[in-house]
Amino acid sequence: MKTDYDIIVAGGGLAGMIAAQSASYYSKQRLSILVLDRNPEPTIGKKTINGWVCGDAVGKNTVDYMTERIKIAWGNPEIEHPVKGVMAFSPDRETSIPFDGDGYMLNRQQLPQRQLRDAKKAGVNIQYSVALRGLLYDNGTVVGVEGTNLVTNEPFKKTAKIVVDATGVTSMLRNGLSINAKIERKIDRDDLESTGRHIMKFESGIEDKKEFDPDYCIIHLDQDIAPGGYGWVFPKGKNKVNIGLGVQQKELIKRNQRLGARVTM
Ligand SMILES: Cc1cc2nc3c(=O)[nH]c(=O)nc-3n(C[C@H](O)[C@H](O)[C@H](O)COP(=O)(O)OP(=O)(O)OC[C@H]3O[C@@H](n4cnc5c(N)ncnc54)[C@H](O)[C@@H]3O)c2cc1C
Repeated sequence: MKTDYDIIVAGGGLAGMIAAQSASYYSKQRLSILVLDRNPEPTIGKKTINGWVCGDAVGKNTVDYMTERIKIAWGNPEIEHPVKGVMAFSPDRETSIPFDGDGYMLNRQQLPQRQLRDAKKAGVNIQYSVALRGLLYDNGTVVGVEGTNLVTNEPFKKTAKIVVDATGVTSMLRNGLSINAKIERKIDRDDLESTGRHIMKFESGIEDKKEFDPDYCIIHLDQDIAPGGYGWVFPKGKNKVNIGLGVQQKELIKRNQRLGARVTM
């Protein structure tokens, strides 16, 4: 079957862009690759309507792995701050366990723009503002994607030999997959965490490394504050922090019963 592209990557987030760049690198730019994302160019890679929700932390070894394999080296400004590891605190904060290992705090607004530049340089085609709804099939095989062009409001359809679904955790493509496959369609609710996080700047006060450490990503394993998950305080500089909570729904219900509280997420 003649297709529009060799590879379509649905979703231009962190994973989609690396997939597209890897395919381009290993095929010596011989494959035609299209990345599709529902966001317009300035906000490509934005995960949700609320923004680039993420703890922003990544191990140096992971970044090195990518650099060695596809010769892409991230630097400033997409890498915002270096860290020496992760420090996990017990609920009473009296015990801490360091997980040493160099890492980076990423700037999730800058990184997609860097990935975009690298992908374009590698000959990857990118189409923005396309909301994908489902997959196209031929004889029980996935042969493309369909959705709506959000600029023209017209239906969108493209075919490819390979379709990579990188539209993230709530993927409509994976959820609607209508062929026999061992792919998990819906992710179990208990495997998902409800989250909230802020990136904030603050004035220096009394130093307390149980609260903030510019060299370590702090994790609080406190089942009252973050049932089924953890609270995090990740440094993005000396006076800047990514602070958030990840909470498991069923543990939140138990926690509310235990504390006679009514917190919802
Ligand atoms: C609160 C929180 C904290 C986290 N902390 C960390 C951390 O510290 N370190 C870490 O490594 N990971 C962390 N993660 C996980 C990390 O953010 C994800 O693993 C990563 O973003 C997944 O990348 P992705 O490219 O698969 O998906 P996403 O980043 O979700 O990208 C999906 C892309 O697909 C596009 N898309 C989605 N649906 C459609 C559609 N229908 N049509 C067209 N385009 C579509 C979106 O616009 C987006 O660009 C965290 C996640 C959360 C929520």
